Amino acid sequence: MKIAVFPGSFDPFTNGHEDVIRRGINLFDRIIIAIGNNRKKQYLFSLDQRKRFIETIFPSGEKVHVEPFETLTATFCKEHNATYILRGLRNLMDFEYEKSLCYVNSQLNPDLEHVFLLTSPKYAVVSSSVVRDIVMSKGDLSFLVPKTIAQMLYSEMPEQ
Ligand code: ADP
Repeated sequence: MKIAVFPGSFDPFTNGHEDVIRRGINLFDRIIIAIGNNRKKQYLFSLDQRKRFIETIFPSGEKVHVEPFETLTATFCKEHNATYILRGLRNLMDFEYEKSLCYVNSQLNPDLEHVFLLTSPKYAVVSSSVVRDIVMSKGDLSFLVPKTIAQMLYSEMPEQ
């Protein structure tokens, strides 16, 4: 069984993330969306919120499963019998960053293979950080995140 982990902060989940998962579904038997929760990192949305946002699009099931993690990605993969890491690439900066992560993960867990999907052109400028900036200014999110998530972001945005 081909199991892939799609790790990320998903703070919050965007159309770019959704696109990578929908395209990845055809490549793997199962994708685990692994929500990173680093206690030293500051997130705009809590782990519970980030998970709920994703589950409006991908309710946890056999094919796609959503799960938080606090360990190293390579360890999480081993614990879940996943031999693939799925990631998206938007530009050269992503490429350089992903390349070093890939080498480190492969050293930690030699069974891992990385699969990178090039972003769809319409999502090339979509990022969680752009979404966070626009949420704070109560701007139009329609081209950045799924509709259900946009509504939740506006209503659950933390007070500044
Ligand atoms: P991280 O903090 O680990 O980079 P993110 O939630 O920002 O987590 O991203 C998770 C993955 O999704 C990364 O591989 C990132 O490159 C990819 N990704 C983010 N936005 C897009 C996009 N618009 N198109 C394709 N891939 C994307």
